[in-house]
Amino acid sequence: MRLVTVGVSGSFPGPASPASAYLLQAHDGERDWNVVLDLGNGALGALQRHVDPLDLDAVALSHLHPDHCADLSGLYVYLRYHPERGGTRTGVGRRLPVLGPSTTADRAAAMYGLAAGESMDGEYDVRAWQPGTPVQVGPFELEPFAVYHPVEAYGIRVTGPSSVRPGERVTLVYSGDTDACDGLVEGARGADLFLCEAAFQEGRDDGVERGIHLTGRRAGEAAAAAGVRSLLLTHLPVWNAPDVAIAEALSAYDGPVAVATAGGVHEL
Ligand SMILES: [Zn+2]
Ligand SMILES: [Zn+2]
Repeated sequence: MRLVTVGVSGSFPGPASPASAYLLQAHDGERDWNVVLDLGNGALGALQRHVDPLDLDAVALSHLHPDHCADLSGLYVYLRYHPERGGTRTGVGRRLPVLGPSTTADRAAAMYGLAAGESMDGEYDVRAWQPGTPVQVGPFELEPFAVYHPVEAYGIRVTGPSSVRPGERVTLVYSGDTDACDGLVEGARGADLFLCEAAFQEGRDDGVERGIHLTGRRAGEAAAAAGVRSLLLTHLPVWNAPDVAIAEALSAYDGPVAVATAGGVHEL
């Protein structure tokens, strides 16, 4: 399984990165499969450096804040109007599976501004997450688990074929946006790679109410409690210093820690 951290900027795009988008790629012996976790503001542009959006097999959304789903609007246009393979020209809708919170279909239509009575059903096959129920996409298994954020929000546990240890399966767990909670630790249990947000900073953000974001330290505590093999911090807003997030995480977790960068490639 290859992870491409297409967009890593926390809460909004920054000068060096789109907002959240993480491309997962794997080969099942017959063909390549492409799943993107979240599609935040600006992500659709950078995503095209790595995959033709027509070749996506699923979009999996952690939650519906714009920095995680805004580019569903652009992707809808791409699938509908592409001059060669768009549904409008071929008469064949792409019906791309979009996995997400219970209100995903309505949100996508409202963001785009569809007229009453119109839908994206020709382009998107929207399916609501059922916590604890895995969804199969080719060689990937995606299992959502509820996390602690002001809106309906999920972490996503992804299992798929290893690209560095042939014949083995590996697990990547994406936190989505969350503060510390038992569900996060359970969801991340034993992950080979824990892709975890660290939007807040110890001290600086202590006055913000709980239930929004992790700090580097709280991400490290979750990583340690879950016994993960490595920790990749992400969703740092532009005003965060990566070295501070890493130092915080290392104060609670003794495995390898790094901060995700736009376009970074990780083979699991
Ligand atoms: Zn966010
Ligand atoms: Zn959020």
